[in-house]
Amino acid sequence: MLGRIEGRYDVVVVGGGPAGLGAALGARDSGAERILVVDREPETGGILLQCIHSGFGLHHFKEELTGPEYAERFLERVVDHDIDVISGSYVSSVGIDSDGDKHVRILREGRGISTVESKSVVLAMGCRERTRGAVRIPGTRPSGVLTAGLAQKLVNMMGMLPGKRIAILGSGDIGLIMARRLTLEGCEVVGVFELMPYSNGLTRNVVQCLEDFGIPLHLSTTVAQIHGRDRLEKITVAPVGPGFVPDLSRAWEVECDTLLLSIGLVPENELSQSLGVELDVITRGPRVSSSMETSLPGIFACGNVLHVHDLVDFVTEEALKAGRFAGEYAQGIRRPKDNITLVPGNNVRYCVPHTLAPGREHTIYMRAKEPMKPCLIKVGDLMQRKLGFVVPAEMIMFKIKPDVLDRFHGDTLRIDILPYEKEGGR
Ligand SMILES: Cc1cc2nc3c(=O)[nH]c(=O)nc-3n(C[C@H](O)[C@H](O)[C@H](O)COP(=O)(O)OP(=O)(O)OC[C@H]3O[C@@H](n4cnc5c(N)ncnc54)[C@H](O)[C@@H]3O)c2cc1C
Repeated sequence: MLGRIEGRYDVVVVGGGPAGLGAALGARDSGAERILVVDREPETGGILLQCIHSGFGLHHFKEELTGPEYAERFLERVVDHDIDVISGSYVSSVGIDSDGDKHVRILREGRGISTVESKSVVLAMGCRERTRGAVRIPGTRPSGVLTAGLAQKLVNMMGMLPGKRIAILGSGDIGLIMARRLTLEGCEVVGVFELMPYSNGLTRNVVQCLEDFGIPLHLSTTVAQIHGRDRLEKITVAPVGPGFVPDLSRAWEVECDTLLLSIGLVPENELSQSLGVELDVITRGPRVSSSMETSLPGIFACGNVLHVHDLVDFVTEEALKAGRFAGEYAQGIRRPKDNITLVPGNNVRYCVPHTLAPGREHTIYMRAKEPMKPCLIKVGDLMQRKLGFVVPAEMIMFKIKPDVLDRFHGDTLRIDILPYEKEGGR
């Protein structure tokens, strides 16, 4: 879509994935009139366009859709709601003038540079995959070493196979999904090697993508060496000891022509950083209030650019909310500042949003540092919830009702994940 754009908007959304499309609809829902979504890819829809497997929309639509189907439903709504959408267009910077107006600089394929003015901006740029350099795997630099998401794009969108005999480092969801996808395409997936003593993907993906296909998952194991001159020939894999150091005395070699890396995702935050938005050192995304507003007034964030999600339905829910608040901001509605800071406590890696305000219902998203079962999530002395298990790979989501939060009179609220027994559980 290379649509026409106006000079002034109420809300500009950077990124046209599920977060960006949800935010645009949320902004429209709030009553904002002129809304623009900008995406750098040739087609709008974000990462969903290459996820041709099913499993999307189970919460939001109560049905199982493929990624492109999920994206299409939102894109249709966006177009029906008269929201401007441009693709092949890259937002290179956002400036804020002394009146608080935002100036969004857009490089448009074949059309040069445009700057549009907006009252509020939603950051929805998604995330990117960590590469070999991030984990410094020793060895040569042959072809055949690539990220799992790139392999997914090659297979699902370009009709190309990355290789024939595939090893996968890391058990994140993209790696697990690609293990199944490449097996279905006739490749031999020789194994998935995971540094941690547990998988970093959703349990359902371990079962449906590895166990159902007899693909071995080697936990507490890593790739210690890459071999091959022009093309990858083999890898040395080794169990890890204390401090995750490979134990080379127990290493073995695996012949393969392709190594897929599924070793984590990082929010795409160059734009947020250049804007001067305050970032969370753990999520590496912006710190946000309960209105999904960053440290800069009128700049909002949602989706994977804020924190990496495992389910797109949660992205949509968060994005609709961010869009509504961005739309309200554009119409001059200002909410009182949050006065409660959430503090991640025992076994809590992070929680989003970072602050809360009384008088409203809040949805909290958080992740555990380590697996624990059974356990209790404790929100100060306000509420607690028993869970059968928590694992770092699966995001935890719960709501705090306004009447519950109204009972709290402090300024920092700690969230803990505790073993159930310790709490004197039944
Ligand atoms: C392999 C894989 C499998 C998954 N499987 C499932 C599943 O089975 N079920 C499920 O519910 N969820 C699944 N997910 C998760 C879900 O798809 C993601 O959480 C979701 O797509 C994130 O949405 P987003 O809009 O934040 O990011 P994205 O979808 O990545 O969209 C961000 C968009 O912003 C654009 N952009 C970035 N920077 C700029 C810029 N400066 N200017 C303009 N545009 C920009 C990007 O090009 C991109 O199009 C899966 C994800 C992956 C990767």
